[in-house]
Order: sequence, then C-alpha cells, then structure tokens
Amino acid sequence: MALKIHQEKKIIHEMPAGGELYLNVLTFDSQRPGPVTYIQSSVHGAELQGNIVIYEMMKHLKGHPFKGKVIFVPMANPFATNNRQGGHTQGRFNPLTGNNWNRNYIDLMKLKEDQVNFSLKNFIKSNIDTPWEELKKSYKKVILEMLLAHEKKLFLERGPRHNTLLNLELQKIAAQADFVLDLHTGPVATRYIYSAEYERDRVADLSFPFNLSIPNEFAGAMDEACFMPWVKLKEEMYAAGRELPIEFESYTVELGSEERISTEEALVDSNRLLHYLHLRGQLDEDVEFQKPDKQYWSLLADYKTYFAKHGGLFEFLKSPGQHIKKGDVLGRYLLANKISAELDETSIRPELIALKDGIVINHACTCGIGTGGELYQVMEEVNVF
Ligand SMILES: [Zn+2]
Repeated sequence: MALKIHQEKKIIHEMPAGGELYLNVLTFDSQRPGPVTYIQSSVHGAELQGNIVIYEMMKHLKGHPFKGKVIFVPMANPFATNNRQGGHTQGRFNPLTGNNWNRNYIDLMKLKEDQVNFSLKNFIKSNIDTPWEELKKSYKKVILEMLLAHEKKLFLERGPRHNTLLNLELQKIAAQADFVLDLHTGPVATRYIYSAEYERDRVADLSFPFNLSIPNEFAGAMDEACFMPWVKLKEEMYAAGRELPIEFESYTVELGSEERISTEEALVDSNRLLHYLHLRGQLDEDVEFQKPDKQYWSLLADYKTYFAKHGGLFEFLKSPGQHIKKGDVLGRYLLANKISAELDETSIRPELIALKDGIVINHACTCGIGTGGELYQVMEEVNVF
C-alpha cells in the first residue's frame, strides 16, 4: 500500500487585528496496520530544534516503509513562537495569563464524572474480561470522547479560554496515539529525556545520553496528561483483580538549546527517534547512527538546581553534558557594582562550588542573573543503564 500524507490546517487563534494562527497537522499514514505515534514540537515557543527534527523524520518516512501512522505537529504553539521581545523569544509563558504552556494540559482522571461523561469504575466493571487489544482500542476512543465532552462543557456556552484552548486541541490530536514524543529544548542544554517511572527501562530505546525519571503523576505537562489515563486504568483494574500492561508511552524529549536549529544535529536526533520507532515495530528497517557510549539516568528528585546567591554577572565554566566532581568550580560571578579601589578578588569574583558529583544538564542562557535566578541544573546520584 502506498503512503498517504494527509495535511490539515487547524485554526487555533484569531488575532485582535485579524489574521489567524493555525496548527499544521501532518499525518503520515502507511495504510498498513500498526501503532500510532504522535510527535509535536515548540510548545515552548523558543524551543525550535524539534521542527527541523520533524522535517528530517518526514523525509525519511517518505522513502522507507513503516506500519501504522505517524502524526506530526511542528510549530505546535505558533502564538508562543511569535511572542518576541527584541531579539528574544518569550515563548515559555502565556503572556496573557503568565501560565507555563507546558503545565496547562488536562488530567482527565481528576475531572468529575459529569465533566467528562465517563465513569472509570463502570468502564472497568463492564470490561473486566474484555481481551486487552479490544480493551485498548475502546479506551483510546474513551479518552477522545472525554476530551470532547470536557471541551463542550468548558468552551461552548461561554467561549474558549485562551489558556487551555491550545493544550486541549493538542491532547485531542494525541488521543489516538500509542506513543507520544513532545519535543522541547532546555535554555543551554544537552540532550535528555523526561520519562515516567513505569517507562524507566524502555526510555533507553531512545538512545539519549541522559534521562530523568519522573513519578507516574500529573504535574500539568503533555507527557503526563497523555500517560495518566493509562496509569489510572492499570491501577483501578488491578484493584478490581486484573493485571494489565501499560503499553502506552510518552516522553518529553529535550533537544539541546533554545533559539537555534542545526541540521547536522537534527540528523542524529531524527535517527534516534526513527530507531525508537523501529524498536516499537513501526519502521521496517533500522537506521544507522552513533549511539552514546553510556546512557545515564537519575530520579527527578536528584535533578538539582543551583540558584544564584548573588546578583551580578556569572561566568559559566562547565558545559551541558559535562561530568562534575564535588568541589569543582562551576562558575564565577563578577559583581561589577561592588568593585572598589582595592579590586579585591574574593568579594568581587566569588566562586560557585559543586556540592556533589553529577552531570551538568542545563545552564541559564544569560550571564546577567539576579539573586535566586537559576544558574545550573545538574543530575546527581547518577545511574547507568
Ligand atoms: Zn520546553
């Protein structure tokens, strides 16, 4: 069967002076039975590398046989990417409300039954013996129906809310997926992934060097919003006496630094994701690429931030991806407004010293930092896969 590529432009925002912003939803349909993967990029507007990775993946899928469907939404938050101040993209927070765009998704499992027209208890009762494949299919349908019911209750009478509109739309597109990859970047960062505890061993299949294991809980992000219904189904079914697998997987994939794209790096990024699709039975042939020598992981609780004790300029002496030792000098401040005639080094150029061994994952994208600003994010208590 020949590949079919379906393109849909979904209008998600009409601007005050007119003009529309839309989502460009591209479905690569192999027309062969198989899993559905959903991939979006740039929900945080300055985090752009995912767009070029999506483009490279599309080029590969056009020429190589695969099963099932891959749904792509590049530039998933055009409002945020357009939100520029001077030469800088303020794409992390909704400027109308202050909310973080990746903390605005909906945990369907926390909504009341009448908000989603669904009772998990009743669903479990009537499906206690339903074969898993059939159960999985009808539960996917239920997830979409719940989102639609919630949307109807939330928006139809009194109008949509800017904060939730985009997030709900993206959740609806992802509702049919077996695998969800939400492509982000850090400020100045290496390659790393957030995965749920239940996916701790599976995340190694993405071949990323660094991995953070988050609890199987909801904190507002896309990956969590997508896995919560499956985590809850497993829990409740277990309580009713039946053991189910969680085949569904979703990850937040961090592709380096914001405000830049690189084709060379995108080829590696794209190969990692294509290799994952191959391992999940979707892409027929595997792809060749250089895998990292070691893959590290730590718990989210051991992902620590160094905050600035001084306001001033900060010189970063360690790079993302670099291993650090307790006692290492991570960086040095320059407290320009404390410079006096003595030019005293210790008061003008205090150092930031590492408290523990670890690996630098992120650092701030500006050297001008006030007290309490985030300097570094470091993986500590590191494990190797
Ligand atoms: Zn992000």
